[in-house]
Amino acid sequence: HWERICSRLKIEVGEVEYRTWLQQITLGGIEEDELTLYLPTRFLRDWVRSQYNSKLNQLWNSELSQIRRVELALTPQTDITSPDSSTNIGVDTTTSSQPQTEGNTTLKPAQVKPSVQTTTPTSPTAEAKEDDGKLPLQTQLDPRFTFDNFIVGKPNEFAYACSRRVAERPSSPGFNPLFLYGGVGLGKTHLMHAIGFELAKAGNISVSYMSAEKFMYRFIASIRSQSTIEFKEELRSVDVLMIDDLQFLIGKDNTQEEFFHTFNALIDAGRQIIVSADKSPSDLSGLEDRLRTRLGCGMVADIHATTYELRISILEAKAASANVVISPKVMEFLAHKITTNVRELEGALNRLIAHANLFGRPITLEATQEVLHDILKSHERRVTIEEIQRKVAEHCNIRQTDMTSARRARAVARPRQIAMYLAKQLTSRSLPEIGRKFGNRDHTTVMHAISRISELIEKDSAFAEDVELLRRMLES
Ligand code: ADP
Ligand code: MG
Repeated sequence: HWERICSRLKIEVGEVEYRTWLQQITLGGIEEDELTLYLPTRFLRDWVRSQYNSKLNQLWNSELSQIRRVELALTPQTDITSPDSSTNIGVDTTTSSQPQTEGNTTLKPAQVKPSVQTTTPTSPTAEAKEDDGKLPLQTQLDPRFTFDNFIVGKPNEFAYACSRRVAERPSSPGFNPLFLYGGVGLGKTHLMHAIGFELAKAGNISVSYMSAEKFMYRFIASIRSQSTIEFKEELRSVDVLMIDDLQFLIGKDNTQEEFFHTFNALIDAGRQIIVSADKSPSDLSGLEDRLRTRLGCGMVADIHATTYELRISILEAKAASANVVISPKVMEFLAHKITTNVRELEGALNRLIAHANLFGRPITLEATQEVLHDILKSHERRVTIEEIQRKVAEHCNIRQTDMTSARRARAVARPRQIAMYLAKQLTSRSLPEIGRKFGNRDHTTVMHAISRISELIEKDSAFAEDVELLRRMLES
């Protein structure tokens, strides 16, 4: 049971969280309907109790229905040998003075090791030193992320305009809080940093940027060192608070609660709050309703997936700023192939630039394909045979059911052959598998279709273009 529970916990809370908080749990005993679990430190016990109590109860009950209650206790010998066991769990607050551009690097298991700290964590000077007393602005903002470096296009123009507006006049009614949301790598963090820089330039405004994860870490650390009041005061003294990747707080009820209070205190005091997340407030199920409601009260701005045009503009701008000439063909190729995420597009471009510099050669399309082989491979879209059938049927104006029907009329047989041909080219299915998907046809039928279509492509350039167009549509 124990092993099963552990692996279920791991899946539910994630590997990192599991290793950070739950791995040190050991099994106590069962008495009637109560199970005891041990944790080595008081801090860890309190934390697990406050954050994971209901989850543990529910998991154990579903695993062993006789268990109605899970009790969390200190591992017996720890209590004797180390009364101040709370120092044993090292929530490494010293990382807070390091540059934090992503904010997602804090919860590394390597950082959760027994602390070798010798100062008493409750001493205010030790705490001030750990956190530098402040939230140092300069170390938190990445100088590459400015408004000037942000390329504006249809998908992000609204979010950009809202960010500009807040940077110019923070705390304006209607723009507080500013809630930015969108998929990974679309520029949320970039915009937040840009706002921070703009405000810092104006001077006299204290800005604090941190990821939601960092927020949780600092909150936990303050509980551990009994400096929660200082933590609260510090947060409530800023003029602008930015919390990045708020979705991280889903399921972290205590931290959410703390954030909610901070949020209210700041808004009531007329301070600006800027939050980013991967979904809109109403779609962030798992956040408390009252928090979601308040998050949606100001300005909510969506960053949409990039368009081809925006990707080209971004590539052009980045190449220009790196002083490298890249042919339009190569840029078009990249903008076609890497569509999900600006960060990956940038990464691909940087690699090309490095390569060009290293070998002193211009970047050709062939070189691009070679240098980016692995990246491109991971971006190949997995097209399904059903998708191919649907697209081809749509394009040729026949019914999708004709793809699998027995009809042999040319009007349906030819599109069916095109779909088989594309299925072979765009998926890794074998000929018999493809045949089966086309109304249980034989693999020789598929073979025949492929050679027929190849012939036509050779002979008829209009036909070839048509097939090429279909392939592009399916690949993008
Ligand atoms: P998110 O926080 O939404 O996951 P980031 O802000 O970290 O995404 O952006 C990922 C990378 O892509 C960063 O290096 C950022 O500078 C770059 N980027 C994203 N959008 C743009 C844009 N419109 N113009 C220029 N760079 C961008
Ligand atoms: Mg981000």
